Amino acid sequence: MTKHLIDPDKCTACTVCVANCPVTAATREFRGPKMTGPAFERMRKLTDGDDVMLDYCSNCKNCDMSCPSGVPVSTLNMLARAEYYKTHKRKTQADDMLAHSEKMGKLVTSIPFGSSLVNMGMSIGKGLGIMEAMGIAADAPTPAFASESFISKFKKIKQTSYPKKVVFFPGCFINYNQPEVGVDLVKVYQANKIEVIVDDAFVCCGSPLVVGGYLDEAHENANKNIALIKKWIDKGYDVITACTSCGLMLKQEYQELFHSEDAENNAKHLYDSIEYLEILHEEGKLNTNFAPINEKFIYHAACHLRAHGFGLPSLEVLSLIPGLEIENADAGCCGISGSYGFKKDKRPVSLKVGEKLFNRIKQSGAKTALSECGTCRLQMTSGSGLESLHPLTILSRAYSK
Ligand code: SF4
Ligand code: SF4
Repeated sequence: MTKHLIDPDKCTACTVCVANCPVTAATREFRGPKMTGPAFERMRKLTDGDDVMLDYCSNCKNCDMSCPSGVPVSTLNMLARAEYYKTHKRKTQADDMLAHSEKMGKLVTSIPFGSSLVNMGMSIGKGLGIMEAMGIAADAPTPAFASESFISKFKKIKQTSYPKKVVFFPGCFINYNQPEVGVDLVKVYQANKIEVIVDDAFVCCGSPLVVGGYLDEAHENANKNIALIKKWIDKGYDVITACTSCGLMLKQEYQELFHSEDAENNAKHLYDSIEYLEILHEEGKLNTNFAPINEKFIYHAACHLRAHGFGLPSLEVLSLIPGLEIENADAGCCGISGSYGFKKDKRPVSLKVGEKLFNRIKQSGAKTALSECGTCRLQMTSGSGLESLHPLTILSRAYSK
């Protein structure tokens, strides 16, 4: 096995992570973070990583967040998963398909009517059981592809140029599935006299590749993004993200997985887009000239947002909009964990994990749910029936009125 720098012997076997692991609570099939992470890590050195339990870990990071000894259990699991698939065959095509969504997104948005054809094909494929045969659940809330990528839309936006500029890393979900979130981000930043730059050489952050066990490909992507981010930071710009998983990957996981000094330096200039607005507000620089929005929203903090450790800036910033009421669902993991909940064999676990959140959303009296994470939004809508939006969309509306 490849040697890595995380020491499983830091684990004191306190079991706090077990109590905080949503998958452990949802299925008896999973032996939990303490066993699957640090305990089995010692064994894996002897058994060449032959551990099927790893497949149950969703990389939600609740174990890491709760561990008093600072053991990055999820990273141990992802490194071990990558080792496992070096010598073991995959059971379905789902991992390959879900890990390489960027390739598909590029293809679909580059051909005329590509998104209509593929979206229709996926819907028919679900009906005919083709997707199930590939390992994707028939009821999985897989995202539709947009007809035009964010990068393409961005190039048509006429921004006012300001001295203050930030570089936006859109990520695959915003680029290929929900480009309107990126457009909203530009509107919100322009309302704050900030010009947005997008580097179209950015590649997928690598998060779907890591959870799929394609670590070498993720490392290649990391090297490209780390160099590009460094280039912009060296020019004096901060870099922002609007997807919490992309943000966590660029800021934290590149360091844990690939031990890059440049990634460590880059992290000091990487921000979530709403965390950045909250900092502007603390400095008295946020444009708070919001039009009223007389509506109640229910907010879900994605696990990968909580793993950042910067609090819940969306609650703070949205509360500044007159008339707006926002309630924190505070109901743990939604169960989707990137693409985990799309898989046929994990869909029941995913729905069980998300049950508490779905009920909280349904009982909230809100008409719209909010979350920064794209796949959380898909899961929230599929589990509760409510429309789910990015908080930037609400901010953009408040600035547009
Ligand atoms: S990452 Fe999530 S699913 Fe995996 S062991 Fe940790 S808490 Fe459990
Ligand atoms: S919380 Fe940390 S120290 Fe405690 S059992 Fe889990 S990994 Fe070990």
